[in-house]
Amino acid sequence: MSLEDLNNQILKCEKCALAKTRTNVVPGEGSSHAEIMFIGEGPGKNEDEQGRPFVGAAGKLLDKLIESIGLTRKDIYIANIVKCRPPQNRDPLPNEVEACRLWLDRQIEIIKPKLIVLLGRHSMDRFLPNQKISFDHGKPKRHKGQVYFPIYHPAAALYRNNLLEDLEKDFKKIPKVLEIIDKDGVEEEKSEEKMEQVGLGI
Ligand code: URA
Repeated sequence: MSLEDLNNQILKCEKCALAKTRTNVVPGEGSSHAEIMFIGEGPGKNEDEQGRPFVGAAGKLLDKLIESIGLTRKDIYIANIVKCRPPQNRDPLPNEVEACRLWLDRQIEIIKPKLIVLLGRHSMDRFLPNQKISFDHGKPKRHKGQVYFPIYHPAAALYRNNLLEDLEKDFKKIPKVLEIIDKDGVEEEKSEEKMEQVGLGI
């Protein structure tokens, strides 16, 4: 199945109660051949209105960060843990994350990104449970052959300068992480050693 076909199915999803309160489904956007996939938490008000991910203030910051590593939205793919806006921007409920699980898993299967950048705590919990974002941000982790890179959510960094500094620093590591993945393929141990050697930590 193509990513376009999959996203057309996602647009019709009624698997959880968010279908009743949403204006638009936000499946995600970007290149179906992206090497890097960014995964946020869920659509906010602007995203719900436009049907596109990260188009509000946090999105503007994300765009700037993406440009800071020489890329644009066209080079990457941006998606969310849940595809519909939780009312009043509350955290997605566990049953909503579950209902959306298969959609995101299928997007990842089709895109096959080299690196998945997890934006914030909720996104990190979905893939790497039992970690702490304040400790684990900026440290690439390989899990079942997939490399994940948890970083602070841009919305959190908008109002906290110290988080913004960390977010900018972590973003600058992304090209290096990709380089290491390219050199070592998916061999777990070698890659982890290399990442440690360049100070990326595991
Ligand atoms: N925050 C998210 O996590 N996702 C969006 O799409 C927008 C804001």
